[in-house]
Amino acid sequence: MQLYSTLSRMVEPFQTLYPDRVSLFVCGPTVYNYPHLGHARTYVVFDVLAKYLRWTGQEVLYIQNITDVDDKIINRAQEEKISQKDLARKFEREYIKDMLSLGIDSVSYHARATTHIPEIINQIERLVGIGVGYITETGVYFNIDSFPRNGELSGQSKDKRISRVTDTKKHNPADFVLWKRGEYGEYTWDSPWGRGRPGWHIEDTAITEKYFGQQYDIHGGGLDLIFPHHEAEIAQMESLEGKHPMVRYWMHTGFLTVEGEKMSKSLGNFIKIQDALKTWDKDIIRYFILLSHYRSPLQVSEEGLLNAKKALEHIRAIAITDNGPYPEGRDAFIAAMESDLNTPNAIAAIHALAAHGDLEALIEYGEILGIRFLPETSAPLSILQDIRAELRASKQFEIADMIRKKIADAGIQVTDPPLKPLK
Ligand SMILES: [Zn+2]
Repeated sequence: MQLYSTLSRMVEPFQTLYPDRVSLFVCGPTVYNYPHLGHARTYVVFDVLAKYLRWTGQEVLYIQNITDVDDKIINRAQEEKISQKDLARKFEREYIKDMLSLGIDSVSYHARATTHIPEIINQIERLVGIGVGYITETGVYFNIDSFPRNGELSGQSKDKRISRVTDTKKHNPADFVLWKRGEYGEYTWDSPWGRGRPGWHIEDTAITEKYFGQQYDIHGGGLDLIFPHHEAEIAQMESLEGKHPMVRYWMHTGFLTVEGEKMSKSLGNFIKIQDALKTWDKDIIRYFILLSHYRSPLQVSEEGLLNAKKALEHIRAIAITDNGPYPEGRDAFIAAMESDLNTPNAIAAIHALAAHGDLEALIEYGEILGIRFLPETSAPLSILQDIRAELRASKQFEIADMIRKKIADAGIQVTDPPLKPLK
């Protein structure tokens, strides 16, 4: 398989650290609000990647973190006058529910930040121990000047990489926080640097180090996470262990846009997954998402979703008669998936497979893409056909014809093989 890595800015052959085992980490949500279609895009893409890799026979350990300690959670919990934990758990449930509604069921383990506090503190202690973390009145910070490879992933010049957090106690405005001192309600923990809570970037590396070790295969997330989040992760992990690269394949999904603007909570133009599912079923949403390559921007529109619906209906309308394997179509599907997860080409292959009546491939590849390509009646249809064959063999033509008529009423034409001559 070939995968594009943001780190090398090249499409590279995919080679895992250990044979037939893939370690995949994707940044999960900050659970303070309902997930929107932007999340759907990212998580559908990595769901398909995990399912495809598993289909090729590789064992995929797919971990996602759940950011359940964060300023946004603290603020919203205060607004709603509920505990941070109750708020975080509520939106974590909404997130899991929406993911399952979209057929996203490939994640091996969801790791909450708040259940990894000892690992986080331990990692910060080691960063302070080697002198790249330093302590101020407000917390513990990472000295970005200590890490020469900083900026490699984003390609940004150093003066642009200024952390949004302004704190005059920091040595350098670009330094980022590892531990925030203070009382933050229930989500406050004791640490060697006083009571407080972790910064955002350290939760990912504490979690990945625990489950994968210092190096792993694929780190995924939305394009907007490259800086500062993923740069910070690299600085933390690679400073600590000196192993480079922490991750070889950095995969970033393009933005989902609405009328040319990125879909985001801050812009207020987001469409909740739950709302989208009221109009469009999950197969249509997945088809629509996969019709664009994951690195391209994806424009959400009513028209685009409607076209996806029509295209999917077309596949289902023609995928009726089983003509056996269509090798060209199968090769095209696999070649597309192998080529940096080129799902638009994979869907073109699906159309060819449907046109040639390779129903077996449509079922199998449909499981990888998480989309049903056969008409709903197909599975019962084959059972009904078996029953009809039995009836005809025992000369109960009247009942067999009645079943054929019912199938025909559902819009499916049935042609019977000639009866075996009776001995
Ligand atoms: Zn993350």
